[in-house]
Amino acid sequence: MELDILTNGQNFYDDKNLLKKIIDIYPSNVQLSLYSMDSEIHDYITGVKGSQHKILSVIKELIKQNIHVTITCFQTSYNPESYIKVKEFAQSIKVDFLTDCRFIYNKKSKNIQAKLDKNQIQEYYKNTINNDYIRNFIKDDKYICEAGILEISITPKLDITPCVYCNYEFGNYKNLSLKELKNKIIPKYKEKFIRKNLEECFNNDYCRFCRYCPTTSSLDRGFMKKSSFLCEDAKAYYEAYMQLKNK
Ligand code: SF4
Repeated sequence: MELDILTNGQNFYDDKNLLKKIIDIYPSNVQLSLYSMDSEIHDYITGVKGSQHKILSVIKELIKQNIHVTITCFQTSYNPESYIKVKEFAQSIKVDFLTDCRFIYNKKSKNIQAKLDKNQIQEYYKNTINNDYIRNFIKDDKYICEAGILEISITPKLDITPCVYCNYEFGNYKNLSLKELKNKIIPKYKEKFIRKNLEECFNNDYCRFCRYCPTTSSLDRGFMKKSSFLCEDAKAYYEAYMQLKNK
C-alpha cells in the first residue's frame, strides 16, 4: 500500500509539528498544487494572500527531508499558460511535475468557474500531448479509471471516496473499516463503474480520447451519463492530436 498526500501545503507551513509528523511517516509522495510562479496569480486562485510563499517553503523543506514531491499545476482560465514556468521550476529542483486542464467547482454555490474555452483547451493539448498517445477509451469490460479500484482517498473529515476529487462517498473512516470497504463496498462499486455501462457514450471518433471521469459527469448530468464537459475535452484533444499528426 502506498500513501500519497495531496495538499495545498498551508497547514504544514503554519504547524511545524504537523509537518514533522508527515515527514516521520515517510509518505510515498506529497503532491502540492502550485498554480503559478507569479505569487499574485497563485494567491488569487487560492484566495489566500501569502499562500504561494508558504507552499514554496514547504516544498523546499520536504525536499530537504528527502520526501518524494510532485508539483501539480492545473490549467484554468485564471492562470493561462502558467504550467510552462511551473514545469521549468519543478525541473530545476528535480521533482516530478503534473499538469492538466481543469475548472474550479465551488461546492457551496455549485458554480463552475475558470473554465477554459474550447480553443484554449485545444491550445493546451497542442502544447502538452504526446502525439503517439491514444487513450483508446472504448466500450469494453475495463474499469473507467483507477479511482476506487486501485486507489481510495480519505478527506480531512475522514470521508472515504474513490479519489480526491470525487463527491461519491463510500462512508466515513470512523465507522467503516478498510476490510469492510474492500470486501463489501468496493466489489459493488466495481460492477457499476465499467466502461460498457456508459450507455449514452462511444458514438463519436473523439470518444477514443475521452478522459471519462464520473466526478466531472456528476457535475453535469449525473454519474455515468454523457457529459458536455467531457465531450468538449475529448473533442479538443482529438482535434489537437489530428493537427499534430497531419503536420
Ligand atoms: S462523455 Fe462524450 S466524449 Fe466521453 S465517451 Fe461519452 S460521449 Fe464520448
